[in-house]
Amino acid sequence: MLYTYLEKRKCVHCGKPLPDQYSLGRTHCKPILLANGKWSSCKDKKWSAIRKVDEVEFRNIKNFQKNMYQRIESLYRQVGEIVSVQQIDKFGINLMRCVELAVSKDGQNWEYRFVTYGFQKININTFKIIQHGKTF
Ligand SMILES: [Zn+2]
Repeated sequence: MLYTYLEKRKCVHCGKPLPDQYSLGRTHCKPILLANGKWSSCKDKKWSAIRKVDEVEFRNIKNFQKNMYQRIESLYRQVGEIVSVQQIDKFGINLMRCVELAVSKDGQNWEYRFVTYGFQKININTFKIIQHGKTF
């Protein structure tokens, strides 16, 4: 078949021109049969690139929360359940990056929840470590 490229369509993955003769629904290059007998397609490549980014991001979040969990555990073991903001800082715990912030309806009780543990606000400078057991 003789291909023309007047419509200037391009593969959304690699940017190569797509022939006008391809059906309008086709937005990627046609799969290519490689020498090893496997098919390679821009569509698959695009999705595996997206999945890879997701995996890296989720792994980073998991590692961060695992690290927070370990820090909270050692804070709890060394200081006990009532802790100050300074002690939380000293152990490198970042309340702003909790998994869930639970605020009671009247706005009186604030709880910064991490995996298994949470920090209940007692006053501006003091928190109580609670074990809610939730792993989300
Ligand atoms: Zn392509």
